[in-house]
Amino acid sequence: MNKQLALLNNELGVAPEVLDAEVSGTWYSSNNSGGGWWLRDEDWYALERDGWIVKWFKDDPDEKPYLDANGRWLGALATRAFLPGVSEREAIDRWEDVVNQSADAEGCYCCGSPHYFYQGFAEER
Ligand SMILES: [Zn+2]
Repeated sequence: MNKQLALLNNELGVAPEVLDAEVSGTWYSSNNSGGGWWLRDEDWYALERDGWIVKWFKDDPDEKPYLDANGRWLGALATRAFLPGVSEREAIDRWEDVVNQSADAEGCYCCGSPHYFYQGFAEER
């Protein structure tokens, strides 16, 4: 379990499996539209400081075979993050403040939008 999620679980005083299943919030997913990543390493660290649960590739056993020696997948440390207990609109506002980009960026014509946001649950993939 992610450290931040474990702390949140502790605060709420519920079993981890309950929290995993029931904590709703907003997911952010990043696409390398145009052939490059739109968030820098610093952006992911900044999102984590803002309360986002970043799904670091290095922490996911399923991703291990696909990562380089530095825990990167195609150069990225992560492509997904979850903000617990927050609506999509609020999450987008927070994200834009933290990374200083527009969530509406169009990306390139063949790859589509680089930034996706959607409501979901903490451990949803
Ligand atoms: Zn493209």
